[in-house]
Amino acid sequence: MIEKYIEAGKILRQVKEEAVKLIKPGVKLLEVAEFVENRIKELGAEPAFPCNISINSDAAHFTPKANDEREFKEGDVVKLDIGAHVDGYIADTAVTVDLGDNEDLVKAAEEALKNAIDVIHAGVNTAEVSEAIFNTITEFGFKPVINLTGHGLDRYIAHAPPTIYNVKIDKGVELKEGMVIAIEPFVTNGVGKVAERSECEIFSLIAVKSVRMKQARQLMDEILRKYKTLPFAKRWLKASDIILAKLVREGVLRAYPVLAEVGKGLVSQAEHTVIVEEDGARVIT
Ligand code: MN
Ligand code: MN
Repeated sequence: MIEKYIEAGKILRQVKEEAVKLIKPGVKLLEVAEFVENRIKELGAEPAFPCNISINSDAAHFTPKANDEREFKEGDVVKLDIGAHVDGYIADTAVTVDLGDNEDLVKAAEEALKNAIDVIHAGVNTAEVSEAIFNTITEFGFKPVINLTGHGLDRYIAHAPPTIYNVKIDKGVELKEGMVIAIEPFVTNGVGKVAERSECEIFSLIAVKSVRMKQARQLMDEILRKYKTLPFAKRWLKASDIILAKLVREGVLRAYPVLAEVGKGLVSQAEHTVIVEEDGARVIT
């Protein structure tokens, strides 16, 4: 199990390094997303979720649609958030690429991540990890995004307990040896909160139910077979919006709309997956 996590992390680290070099003004977002997803497969893993490319005040859950023409622009703050799994064991990592002049915003997220990892070991309370993140971000003069968090990882589950908050909390949970967790500080110069906007290209299966319409049933079966409980992109399937919407309404699928900073602030993010060890944290991404 640990070997599979480590293999997923190693592949993801390489893909991240290669993908970052592609992010430049004039390049299509779709080109980078497809590069990431194909490269993960080429290296022997599978994407654990669609390649997320959230720009400026978009904080999370943006992935290009099929035939998306949008390009990176001068000045963009680009969050590249990618995941890979080997046999269901997931590694999750993110980096912010600054195409403008927001060095401190990016640095605040990276430092917060580093300081969080430094306090992790078996027996530590997640409240201490959250405090390290919060203190670092506020010392930079920015705000953490209150409603985006780090999380545990489980087999075929991209978001498992425990929740790792990016703000101070009264009572957390104790981290135990062998836990696999993703730490992901989100930093903003806005108000520090995200809300859903209408665009939505990512979904995941939450329940297998008896579905009357044949096309909807076939799509549910295809999703279960290909992605199990992991998030997938609309562009990965030849599915109509109507059928997808129907499966969401029936409680078969969960939708992940794009999450944007409510004050239209710029958002940066840094993320690593770590394995909790007796006397520290092993970073696998
Ligand atoms: Mn992530
Ligand atoms: Mn994550």
